[in-house]
Amino acid sequence: MTPTLPAEQALDETDGIHLRRAIELANVARSRGNRPFGSVIVGADGAVLAEAWNRNGETGDCTAHAETEALRIASPRHSRDELAGATIYASGEPCVMCAGAIYWSNIRRVVFGIDAERLRVFRGDRLDQRDAELSCRDVFDASPTGIECIGPALLEEAAASHEGGWKT
Ligand SMILES: [Zn+2]
Repeated sequence: MTPTLPAEQALDETDGIHLRRAIELANVARSRGNRPFGSVIVGADGAVLAEAWNRNGETGDCTAHAETEALRIASPRHSRDELAGATIYASGEPCVMCAGAIYWSNIRRVVFGIDAERLRVFRGDRLDQRDAELSCRDVFDASPTGIECIGPALLEEAAASHEGGWKT
């Protein structure tokens, strides 16, 4: 029996705009020799607080995931109270490290594109490409602040960044 994949969630116009920008940044990442992931952080008033893409390839830093990179930009510049009203958009479901970083930032809302399960088809069986199979929702659900998590969303667009983008 095939395991059931998570169902795509509908987004409103604003979330759609920002998630599409995160997907664009994933394509920027890929064009620069990194894994195809992008992220955008948007404040409660709609202002973009940070944009980032995965920079593993460019920097050799294994922690340079898009969401963590975006948090490194936004967190020093904005208070925990400001970030509590922010949303982080990620082209792919946040990994365990990024989910932990999102918790520490005090951001309470996450919107992501392709989910970790569908991503595993692209990652394949190579150990250097596999992820820790713990859902970001497990991290968010365990957090005392309560973190809303929406996704997968815009699946077709989010998946397109990964077509042919991984080693086999
Ligand atoms: Zn990550």
